[in-house]
Formats: sequence, C-alpha cells, structure tokens
Amino acid sequence: MHKGQWVDVIKQAIPGLAMLLDEPMWAHTSLKVGGPVDVMLMPTSAEEVCQVLHLLKEHDIPRYIMGNGSNLLVRDGGIRGVVIKLGDNFSDAVVEGSRIRAQAGISLTKLAHMAWQGGLTGLEFASGIPGSLGGAIAMNAGAYGGEMADVLEKVVCCNLDGNMSTLDLPALELGYRSSKVRNEKLVALEAVVALKPGDRTLIRDTMDDLNRRRREKQPLNFASAGSTFKRPSGYFAGKLIDDAGLRGICVGDAQVSDLHCGFVVNRGRATANELLELIDLIRQQVWDKYQVELELEVQVVGED
Ligand SMILES: Cc1cc2nc3c(=O)[nH]c(=O)nc-3n(C[C@H](O)[C@H](O)[C@H](O)COP(=O)(O)OP(=O)(O)OC[C@H]3O[C@@H](n4cnc5c(N)ncnc54)[C@H](O)[C@@H]3O)c2cc1C
Repeated sequence: MHKGQWVDVIKQAIPGLAMLLDEPMWAHTSLKVGGPVDVMLMPTSAEEVCQVLHLLKEHDIPRYIMGNGSNLLVRDGGIRGVVIKLGDNFSDAVVEGSRIRAQAGISLTKLAHMAWQGGLTGLEFASGIPGSLGGAIAMNAGAYGGEMADVLEKVVCCNLDGNMSTLDLPALELGYRSSKVRNEKLVALEAVVALKPGDRTLIRDTMDDLNRRRREKQPLNFASAGSTFKRPSGYFAGKLIDDAGLRGICVGDAQVSDLHCGFVVNRGRATANELLELIDLIRQQVWDKYQVELELEVQVVGED
C-alpha cells in the first residue's frame, strides 16, 4: 500500500483525528533538526491511541512515538511512516489526594507546577526537564538526585497491537535512562505519580533553586537535547570530553557547548549530519584517549 492509500485508511477509520502531512520534524524537536515525517498524528484519548496503533499494525505501517521531542535527534531525511505525537493534545491531569493522575502528553514542568499548587512534594527535580510525562517515563528521566522511579506508582500502557495494560512500579523495570516502556516499545498513555504533602514555600524555593542551577550550568540559549551521552560508569561524560580537549569544537553549526561539554548544541543552522559527525568525533577521541565508550542518551531516529 502506498502512502496516499494508508493516509485514506487512517482518515476513514478515525475521522477527526488531527493529522499533519510531510511535517518537518525540526519544528517538533528541541535540537531543531530533522527532515519531514510522512504523517504526524495527534490523538487526544487513550482509546484513539490504541485504535491508531492497531490500525498501523494491521497495515504494516511503521510508527514512532514522541512526546515533546526534547531527547530526539531526527536525521535530515526525516521519518518514513507515522509519528504519533503525545503532547498538549493529550495532557489532562487531576490531583487525587497526594497523587496526580495525568495523561502522558502533559509537560513535566506543568506537572511539577500542579504538585506545588497542591502542596505536594516529590516532583521538584522534574520542574526544569523539558519533556512530557510519557517521554520521562520511557527515559526514567532524572535530575539533581531525583528520578521518575521515585514518584511513579503505575502507568497505563498500550502495546503495538493496540492492547492496554497497567504496569506497577516493579513491572516498569526503571533503570538509568531505561524502562520496560522503551525496551518493549510500549506506549505510555496515563500515569499516577504518588507524592507527599509538603510545604509550598519550600517546594517553590527548591524548584527555583534547581532551575537557577540549570540556567547557570546548561547552555539553555542554544538548541540541544540535553546531555548527549549517558554517564559512563565511574566518569562524567562532560569532563571526559573537556579533558580530551574538545570544549567548543564545531562541525558546521554543531558544537560541543563551551558552557557544558556534555551538551552538543545546534548554534543555529546545524544539520543532523553535522551533529552526528561531531558526536562520532567525540566518541572516537574519548575512546582513543581514555578507552571509555560514550553511549548516546539522545535517541537518533529517521533516515539520512
Ligand atoms: C535543555 C535540556 C535539559 C534536559 N535535562 C534533562 C535532565 O535533567 N534529566 C533528564 O533525564 N533528561 C533531560 N533532558 C532530556 C529530555 O528532556 C528527557 O529525556 C525527557 O524525558 C524526554 O521527554 P520527551 O517528551 O521530550 O520525549 P521525546 O524526546 O519525544 O522522546 C524520547 C523517548 O521517549 C519515547 N517516548 C516519548 N513519549 C512516549 C510515550 N508516551 N510512550 C512511550 N515512549 C515515549 C520516545 O519514543 C523516545 O524514545 C533535557 C533536555 C534538554 C533539551
């Protein structure tokens, strides 16, 4: 089946589903690179997500799930098939006592803000992470000593056949920047985070302090996807890169941030190819000098 045909199949099966054709991925990622995706779908309910997944499986159409695109490096040729974007369109949330139940597309910043408003502590670490709840579950996002594993109680997921299940904390198999959701290509639909009653002033002060530290240490004035590499056991990626003499080096407009060497940034017009070339160069030089293998934290998707 060619693209025009399967677009019609989707339109007929789920009328009203928000759909963008040949949508440039650079417009949906914090790194601001990436060619077009054939079709971007933006479902608004769990049922719609499951229906879409079932349909794509049935017609053998490739699919990729994204949240806020803050950990993605999409190649210049873009993505063939469908990207299902779970963002603002899928972001209802409600406070239930000391828990918050939320759809996966809600931003972590908004979720942390809700927790503060409700006098609930536990999500302060997440207030400056620019991802969605779903992306944070998939990546077990963390910062300043906290991580999603500390607050998640359960997650409603959907598999690629379109079947829903609920995973409790142990079943989520959360590890350092890894999860069952990511390893088994599940889609996180909705989650319950369990927090504790806390002092609103203290919660606000902690969030402000962490965000101030971020602004001081991270190159937030340039496009990036956060830390490019995972923390290698026993080392810090940024320090290894700095010690290897790579601070500030460029390939085109792709640069090792001179503020934080763990971030590869797009200074304006970088292509995905330039970013990937720089990433290869960093990995090679760090390996040559220190025999440490830098593993990517950023998810690379799409085709050249
Ligand atoms: C300036 C900056 C600072 C950052 N700081 C931190 C930090 O302190 N700590 C940290 O951990 N990360 C940090 N990040 C990286 C990023 O914000 C996190 O990894 C975040 O959790 C990604 O969420 P997202 O919604 O943007 O996911 P995306 O980038 O859209 O996707 C990331 C991965 O999650 C998967 N995914 C997304 N949504 C779902 C879903 N609903 N179900 C299943 N899989 C899904 C995608 O398929 C992909 O594999 C930072 C990034 C930037 C740009």
